[in-house]
Amino acid sequence: MSANSDVLIVGAGPAGLTAGLYASRAGLRVRCLEKMTAGGTAALTAKVENYPGFDEPISGFDLGQRMEKQARRFGLDIVSGSVDELAVKSNGFDVKTSGGVFAAEAVIVASGTRPVELGVPGEKEFRGRGVSYCATCDGPLFKNSKVAVVGGGDSALEEAAFLTRFCSRVYLIHRRDQFRAVKVLVERARANEKVTLVTHSVVQKIVGTEQGLEGVEVKDLESGSVKTLPVSGVFLYVGISPNTEFLSADTDTDEHGYVITDEEMRTSTKGLFAAGDVRKKSLRQISTAVGDGAVAAMSVVRFLEERESR
Ligand code: NAP
Repeated sequence: MSANSDVLIVGAGPAGLTAGLYASRAGLRVRCLEKMTAGGTAALTAKVENYPGFDEPISGFDLGQRMEKQARRFGLDIVSGSVDELAVKSNGFDVKTSGGVFAAEAVIVASGTRPVELGVPGEKEFRGRGVSYCATCDGPLFKNSKVAVVGGGDSALEEAAFLTRFCSRVYLIHRRDQFRAVKVLVERARANEKVTLVTHSVVQKIVGTEQGLEGVEVKDLESGSVKTLPVSGVFLYVGISPNTEFLSADTDTDEHGYVITDEEMRTSTKGLFAAGDVRKKSLRQISTAVGDGAVAAMSVVRFLEERESR
C-alpha cells in the first residue's frame, strides 16, 4: 500500500503531540491533523499548575506551543483540518478531511472532547454575545462586570477563579452543594471574596435584549424560589463530550461515546489506537494524556513491525 504516512494522528492536544513526538522519534512518517490550535482543550486553560516539571504555573497555551515545537523537532508534520470520516480499508485507513484524503497504515485518535451545552432558553441566542464556554478566551471582555459560571467540576471552579482577575463579581451556580472539583479548588473559591456560591440552584433561562445579555434566571431547588442574577456574561462548564463522530460504528465506545481501549491503547479496530481524553478512562489530565500518547505511539511502532515481518 502506498500510504501518505505510516501513522496519522487525529488531534494535536497533549496526547496527540506526545504520540507524534514518540512516533517521529522512532523513525515513522507521522502526520498530525488539528482543527484549531496545538495544545487542545488544555491550551484554553489560563493556568496549569499540576503538570510535573513546572514548579511555577504555566499557561495551557504556552505548554501546547512547547509540546508542538518539541514534536516538530523530531519531524512531526502538523496540518490543519478536521476529520469528516475515517474509512477502514484492508491494509490501513483513508482519513477524509476538509482538506482532502490522507492515507495511513495506522491511526491514533486523540481528538479530545468538547463542552456540553446546558440546553436552556437563551443559550443559543446569546452564544458569542454573553454566553461562553471559554473563560480564557472571553474573560477579558467582561472587565469590571458581573458574570456567572455554571457547573461544579474542576473546569467551573478553576475558570471562576480565573474570571475574578477581571470581573467585579462571579456567581458560581451549581445544582448541588457538594462539588465534583478537587478540594483545593473548592477551598480557593470559598475563600475568594469576589466569588458568590449559588448552590442547590439551576439556570432556567438566559435573558437579555438585542444589546446583549442581562441576566440568568436561577431556580433554588430547595426553596423553589426563582430570581434573576444581573450578569452580562455566563460561562458554561457542565461537562464534556468526546469528539468521535467520524468513527465507524464498528469501533467500540462506552454509553457516552468514549473510545474503549486496552492498556496498549488499541481499540477494537485493528490498526486504530486512541489516546487522551477521548478514551474511556478514570482521570482526564494533561499528565494522563501524555502517558496515553507515548503508549499509543509505541504500540503503533510494534503493530507496523509485526505487520512487516509477516
Ligand atoms: P465534569 O467534571 O463532568 O463536571 C461537570 C459539572 O457540571 C458537574 O458539577 C455537574 O454537576 C454539572 N452539570 C452537568 N450537567 C448539568 C446540568 N444539566 N445542569 C447543571 N449542572 C450540570 O466536567 P469538567 O469540570 O469540564 O471536567 C471534565 C474533565 O476534565 C474532568 O475529568 C476534570 O477532572 C478534568 N479537568 C481537570 C482539570 C485540572 O486538573 N486542572 C481542569 C479542568 C478539567 P454534578 O456534579 O451534580 O453532576
